[in-house]
Amino acid sequence: MAIGEIWQRCIAKGNLVGSRAEAKGACGSVQLCAGLEAGIEGALHAVRIRAETNGSMQFRAGEIDDELWELEREEGEDPSWIAAAEEGLQGESEYGPEGLTLVDARNGFNELSCYAMLWTARHHRPKGARFAFNCYRHYARCIVRNPGAEPSILLSREGVTQGCPQSGILYGLGLLPLAEHLRCDDDPQQPVNSTVLQPWYADDMAMMGACTRIVRVFQLLMEKGPSVGYFPEPQKSYHICPKAEEAAARTAFEAAGLQVNFCRGKRYVGGFVGSEAMLERWLDPKVKKWVAGVEILARIASRFPQTAYAGLASSLQAEWQYICRVIPGAEHYLGPIESAICEKFIPALLQVSDPVDEAFRQLLSQGVKMGGIALRNPTTSAPLLHQSSVDACDLLIKALHAGGGLSAEAHKACVREAGHHTRKARLKEEEAYLDGLKASGGRKMAKRLDRMSETGAWLSAIPNRFDGTELSREEFQDNLAIRYGLRPRGLPDRCDGCNEPFSVEHGLNCKKGGFVGQRHDDVCEELAHLCSMALTAARISSEPEIFYGRGLTAAQRGTSEVLGDEARGDVGAHGFWKRGRTTIFDVQVCDTDAKSYGNRESKKVLEGAARRKREKYEEACLERRRDFTPMIYSVDGMADKLARAAERRIAGLLAAKWTRQYSQMASFVRTRMCLAIVRSNTLLLRGDRVMNWRRRAPDDGVGVRAAMTYQIQ
Ligand SMILES: [Zn+2]
Repeated sequence: MAIGEIWQRCIAKGNLVGSRAEAKGACGSVQLCAGLEAGIEGALHAVRIRAETNGSMQFRAGEIDDELWELEREEGEDPSWIAAAEEGLQGESEYGPEGLTLVDARNGFNELSCYAMLWTARHHRPKGARFAFNCYRHYARCIVRNPGAEPSILLSREGVTQGCPQSGILYGLGLLPLAEHLRCDDDPQQPVNSTVLQPWYADDMAMMGACTRIVRVFQLLMEKGPSVGYFPEPQKSYHICPKAEEAAARTAFEAAGLQVNFCRGKRYVGGFVGSEAMLERWLDPKVKKWVAGVEILARIASRFPQTAYAGLASSLQAEWQYICRVIPGAEHYLGPIESAICEKFIPALLQVSDPVDEAFRQLLSQGVKMGGIALRNPTTSAPLLHQSSVDACDLLIKALHAGGGLSAEAHKACVREAGHHTRKARLKEEEAYLDGLKASGGRKMAKRLDRMSETGAWLSAIPNRFDGTELSREEFQDNLAIRYGLRPRGLPDRCDGCNEPFSVEHGLNCKKGGFVGQRHDDVCEELAHLCSMALTAARISSEPEIFYGRGLTAAQRGTSEVLGDEARGDVGAHGFWKRGRTTIFDVQVCDTDAKSYGNRESKKVLEGAARRKREKYEEACLERRRDFTPMIYSVDGMADKLARAAERRIAGLLAAKWTRQYSQMASFVRTRMCLAIVRSNTLLLRGDRVMNWRRRAPDDGVGVRAAMTYQIQ
């Protein structure tokens, strides 16, 4: 299978849906690359926790690799750790001091023995075995292009193909017998292997334990590895231990004829193991790269704020969050990232010139549902992330330490439980902060903060032109400003429609120019579109009549009955709540911050509007056997509870129709509605309210002639 063959890839993915769980179960804690949740994190934690509990790998302050030290030291300088190291071992133990060996294998994926792999797959993972057999029974063909000539074809019967969706799992399975053998081999003449911690992640193998025991496992690996296609290379492998213990370890390795390298710290599966000084040297360029990334996004943010925001919030920050998860105390190194976010990114996003103050920064770092924009502060969020990762890997770490089996189900439950717990803890913390802010910030602020938890759906949308989730620069920035009660930049002083002073509140409510009506129509259209997807287009009607007249039935309605001004709903949907009954929706978008509402809670304002609508129309609708649902929204997208219920109903219908998860559909519907509302805010704030008809040209010959004549005279 090669990278270009899309159908085969697609089918392989489909096969994985059914067979992945079995592979995961078969690999347990022995091979972590078969899709085990938080597998890599577990390997890193297991190593670190073992070092902590055994008191091994105690590096002295400032320990770095010998070559680095030779390179950087000044004449006659001898750091204290070198002198201490020369005194010899810190503690004698029977099998030598503990360390960590990272094994490097030649060519990894390409050398794996196909026969051994298929055999193991057949016995450990019967569900996917037939598919794997059909994929790998033939020679894999690698086509090398020769421009202008016939391509040459290389045939290979070893290894798994890189780019094949199953390659990771099959590779893991292929090495499973070897890994199990290394764990269980108990030669009475030799030290016990099972005391060596041996996490495998694909071809990344690590061994942690007393050095003579490691040597024994390494020898076994050299001996048995080639039979399944694993060729360890000692000269490219590293043994990590403090300088003081290097001599003992070196003797042990050399006695067995293994020429490994010795170092004070090394990258291991995306994390780092070693001394503090080496960690710093490893992290430093990474942090610089991330800072540069944040600065680039800050430059992008001035023109494409939504894109830049999505890039940072849902992609870039995940990179350092992973480091926080696997390295304790990572927060000490991430300060520069936080300053770049504070000084460059947020000002660019909010269009302000100064860095934001501390309290505002903390608010922004909260989740979208807690009034922030989920730009986490890496220095303060790190400890919780790390703890959450350790908790999630609890069972895995224990299984790795004991060298025993791992129930994939129990582990999955553990990961989920830890995630749930962390989220809850964070929400509690954020809620407390928000409550404090509400208490101290005055009523107007409290009202806005109250609303924020329900108005952020547009922030979490990933911008995409085809999905219609894209917001223009002004739309994004205006709404961000409205969310935080700031005045958007570049607004005029006076309204061009009515010459009143132009505040945000006035802009969002001034009826001149017809924008309020346009906003209303936009929301109706979105609602009708969503309903037509959930039901069918034929069941949706626009502007359905609502029949007035108390005590009259439809049949009694005569020509003398006068319809009221608004005797039409906005959208009618047949079979929405119940089969065979039409529901009439009436949409209203109101500014809950308007002065006329005083200090009433936003929720109460929306409820009041819904109640008034129902008082006016519901009875008339019920009379004609129709349901009536008012859809009341605030200008920033908060929905009344009836509107929320209708959204949920649409989501439920869509979930059933498209066989998707309800939660996915709920967020889809909510985001669509929210976007339809907030998108109009820019129109209301920045649109031109001058009446068009005042400057319209005459549209018949007489008028034109009169106008021209007037000009000539
Ligand atoms: Zn106005």
